[in-house]
Amino acid sequence: MIISKVEAIHCALPYTYHRPASSSRSSGWPTIDTLLIRIETDEGVEGWGEAFGFMSCATTRRAVETLIAPLCIGKDPRDIASLMDELARKLHNYGRTGAVAYGLSGIDIALWDIAGKIAGKPIYKLLSEPTVADLPAYASLLRYGDPGVVARASELAVERGFANIKVHEISTAEVAAARAAIGPGTPLTVDMNCPWSCDEALAMAEAWTAYDLYWMEEPIWPPDDFSAMATFAARSPIRLAAGENAGSLQEFERLIDIGKVAFVQPSVTKVGGISEMVRIIRFAQARGVTVAPHSPYFGPGLAATVHLIAALLPSSLVEWYFCDLAARPFGGELDATQSGRVIVPQAPGLGVGPDYDAIKRFAQ
Ligand SMILES: [Mg+2]
Repeated sequence: MIISKVEAIHCALPYTYHRPASSSRSSGWPTIDTLLIRIETDEGVEGWGEAFGFMSCATTRRAVETLIAPLCIGKDPRDIASLMDELARKLHNYGRTGAVAYGLSGIDIALWDIAGKIAGKPIYKLLSEPTVADLPAYASLLRYGDPGVVARASELAVERGFANIKVHEISTAEVAAARAAIGPGTPLTVDMNCPWSCDEALAMAEAWTAYDLYWMEEPIWPPDDFSAMATFAARSPIRLAAGENAGSLQEFERLIDIGKVAFVQPSVTKVGGISEMVRIIRFAQARGVTVAPHSPYFGPGLAATVHLIAALLPSSLVEWYFCDLAARPFGGELDATQSGRVIVPQAPGLGVGPDYDAIKRFAQ
């Protein structure tokens, strides 16, 4: 069996994210974009992957089409480790993170989809034997920058069944509003996306102690300042989560051993796909560090994360991006919005597939 074709399909999806029409704030994204990767083989088996994502889809697509795909054609998709190692070695000087790493992540996920289809097993059963029917998810709200809107969106998430909430906010009023809206018993985390120095982050951690936060996610700029993270981790009353910007197992080794991060957050569409996620999870587990995968995705990246959690992370939740898309081009069966839980697909490979009508409608 050989790879006969590699496609990168950029879908731009209209969405709503529970913001009242009267609000002057917007997320800054006219659409939510996803980059689907499709690998075709000469024997008719196809695999789907997802490469990060959002504003970088067009750039990542170019990386796949011009750098990565030509190196895949003619290769045996069944030897995932050899092919991914060859690609990483040939492309390392174009970046160990960013568009090239994102593209490689999408390829790896698609190869695992093919592996599962060949074996007749869902991906999670390639990694572990026990059957898992579904998993709890947490609602990951977009940034609103408006306490009233944060409160309403937090309430809505709880109404829809989520028992764990994350907000993306950087001001105390919004964090206080979220806690007040969901009450004292529901776990709440705050994700800042890297705005502050270590001292600024520590000051905010002190100010937010009153809101019983489960973790503070990426408080520090830049995201690879491991020594600043270690200082924060040693002094903060709230535990540190980070890792969605890390590009390899080696960066996770530094996040854990130098940065002293309590919750590491590898992202399957960025970090090298399922293969590298497995290595990172095993390393973190050996160090006794909790893995909380980053997965604000809607297609194969979400499905791959569900399989990884089902197989290897029995205590973890699935990050569910809390917005409603006009369509789901891949894996629409995965839906946490009715119960706060996500099914684990039991069909071979990723276990869910494409919606060609949605792809046709929203492909760029
Ligand atoms: Mg985050």
